[in-house]
Amino acid sequence: MEPSPLFTALTGYAGSRHWQYIYPVWSRRAGGLSIGINLHPNHCCNWHCLYCQVPGLQRGPSPTIDSRQLIQELTDCLNWLSQHCAPLTLKDCVQDVAFAGDGEPTTSPQFAEVLCKLIELLSQRRPDERPAHVRLITNGSQLQHANVQHALKLLDEIEGEVWFKLDAGSDGEMLAINDTHLPLSLHLQRLQTCCTLCKTWVQTAVVSRITDGELTTTPSLPGYIDALQSVKEEISGILLYGIARQSQQDTKGCLHATPAEVLEEYAERLRTLGVCVRVFQ
Ligand code: SF4
Repeated sequence: MEPSPLFTALTGYAGSRHWQYIYPVWSRRAGGLSIGINLHPNHCCNWHCLYCQVPGLQRGPSPTIDSRQLIQELTDCLNWLSQHCAPLTLKDCVQDVAFAGDGEPTTSPQFAEVLCKLIELLSQRRPDERPAHVRLITNGSQLQHANVQHALKLLDEIEGEVWFKLDAGSDGEMLAINDTHLPLSLHLQRLQTCCTLCKTWVQTAVVSRITDGELTTTPSLPGYIDALQSVKEEISGILLYGIARQSQQDTKGCLHATPAEVLEEYAERLRTLGVCVRVFQ
């Protein structure tokens, strides 16, 4: 799906406005134009995924966000879109506004505050002048915290949804792919918690890489399918995608483009669980 002229024009406008927190993206998984909210312009994340596309990614604390400026930038962006999307409505042209950015959104102590302000902003706009969805794209690592759980309830109240990262079928794969020592069992508990709070999709990167001279693909299907057994009734489905764009991390050349037939094989197996699976090459 080629980027729309509206996206190209908005990218030019965003560049001229020097927004710090808001950015347009042409998203395979969202199915078109997405407006990203970046709570980590310092490129800090608590994970360090092998395929991450954030340049200069580092570990470190979340920065202080000027939430007033963030909302001003988003207002500017939505107003520009309203003026330029005719004869369509903004809702027709913008698939979502998504918390994503250059780090894990829920590690920001201001995540809930910014979400509240976003909800207030959207409530002031006509329904057809709002993006079609509000989403949180998360690695799920902060779901044990009351403030994050509270925020997810608010997200649920506006019919938002969560895309929850699950790239592994074992502790070893979580370490190899996400560079976290978090046990998979604990990660799955957090996924279950997430499902009780808000509509939740699992998002999984199927990663092909050379290790010890052999091409391996993660997550390993037996472990991954086992992991999904406990949540398959609760999740809305799985967003399965291959690594299409160049990683910005030092992968020492081990990453390979995920073959389309491998993705399809994964999808076939997962559908036997009775789960909705969407594949993005
Ligand atoms: S969780 Fe997201 S931002 Fe953080 S390292 Fe992984 S892909 Fe990058």
